[in-house]
Amino acid sequence: MISCMSTSFSPPPSSSNSAVPSARVLSFEEARHLVEQHALGVCPGEVETVELLAGLGRVLAEGILADRDFPPFARATRDGYAVRAADVAEVPARLEVVGEVKAGDWPEPGVCSVGCGQAVGIMTGAPLPAGADAVVMVEHTLLADQLADPAGKLLAKLVEVEVRRSVSSGENFVPRGAEARAGQLLLDRGHRLDHAGIAIAASVGKGRVQVFRKPRVAVLSTGDEVVEVSATPGPAQIRNSNSYSLAAQVQNAGGEAVRLAIAPDERGRLRSLIEEGLDCELLLLTGGVSMGKYDLVEQVVDELKAEFYFTGAEIQPGRPVVFGSCGLATSVRADGEVAGGTRARAPAPHKKYFFGLPGNPVSTMVTFELFARPMIEALAGMTPQRLIFLRARLKSEIRTKTGLKRFLPAVLSGEFENAEVEVARWQGSGDIASLARANCYVVILPERERIEAGEWVSVLMR
Ligand code: AMP
Ligand code: MG
Repeated sequence: MISCMSTSFSPPPSSSNSAVPSARVLSFEEARHLVEQHALGVCPGEVETVELLAGLGRVLAEGILADRDFPPFARATRDGYAVRAADVAEVPARLEVVGEVKAGDWPEPGVCSVGCGQAVGIMTGAPLPAGADAVVMVEHTLLADQLADPAGKLLAKLVEVEVRRSVSSGENFVPRGAEARAGQLLLDRGHRLDHAGIAIAASVGKGRVQVFRKPRVAVLSTGDEVVEVSATPGPAQIRNSNSYSLAAQVQNAGGEAVRLAIAPDERGRLRSLIEEGLDCELLLLTGGVSMGKYDLVEQVVDELKAEFYFTGAEIQPGRPVVFGSCGLATSVRADGEVAGGTRARAPAPHKKYFFGLPGNPVSTMVTFELFARPMIEALAGMTPQRLIFLRARLKSEIRTKTGLKRFLPAVLSGEFENAEVEVARWQGSGDIASLARANCYVVILPERERIEAGEWVSVLMR
């Protein structure tokens, strides 16, 4: 809609943002801690059972226990000879080879054990025979047939091995149960399964795992200029990329995104879409949280009895970010059923959290990671993950203004231990092309104005 220099101009819904709740702008750390505190109080959803591989990226609703000792037998970690360490205290030492165990064999004590002056050939992964207390690596031995003199005369019996390096008792095998004892908790409830977690579940014989249902997270883009991705935008229109980037981030964080229709900058429609969004476990809005005449999000959620925990954070990009909650969504019935067939969680949630993320695409993505992600993780049943900052050397000087903690899209490069980072050239918080080329953010403290090339800076991976 053309709102100026046009006969169709209509007065804005409110001539100022006086209806916006009083500003509560926090430092980055205060704002993040506040979200983390609220996240501690939320309950995950119902439990469902899925095939093991479908559990990748899901959050365990059950603990995974060792079904037997790990390893279940004293396991050789080298190819070589199982020996008594005392027999090879002095080298070279000749031992009689009385057998061989390969992975999968079971050396029956009495049939295949290591007596004084004896050795048993052993392969990596095979059980250590009774009597042995170490494994000598094959690289440190010579078999008798390799001990022939230049004339070809054997210097030792074929069944003998010469050990040329000593080993200590306990070397080159893992004792039974050293990794975990039968019944021990290997993965706790609330653990998000990655490939290592999948391996653990597989190793204890779990072909199916119990996980929490993914929280449904409503994504609501606002703005008169925003059009669907399938539309051909008019000259002043913008495609709704935020809805997609947020949906992708929600999935990544362990949630299920519910993308709602685009809300115009008009109270009535905005309110009904917000109400629809509050049927989900969390509502993410983008756009409409700045100080413009048509930035109506805070006013409209306020009408829905919102409580605002913060209405801004001292960061850039993303300063106008809003975090709050609304009373129970209007469409939840007394029996706990929510309109649309979704069951309310038990105990029924008494408030629904929402985030108002700024509409500039880079701000939307950054504020999601900094603030919305821990809440989704908690709703998914996880303990929210700490933000982890790495350190890297700055490639080129940065000059900036003081007052805000900055998360500047940047490229981390270098090889091996020599990480170096350079801020991406960008045109500000709307520059998605620059962000897509970046792989991290350089974090600049609010009091810093100039950071020299070569300084160590904090980096947040993207
Ligand atoms: P706002 O936060 O509503 O003032 O919007 C800030 C900037 O972000 C404007 O340039 C908008 O056009 C842009 N923007 C808002 N919403 C979206 C969206 N869903 N997708 C892409 N850009 C958007
Ligand atoms: Mg807008």
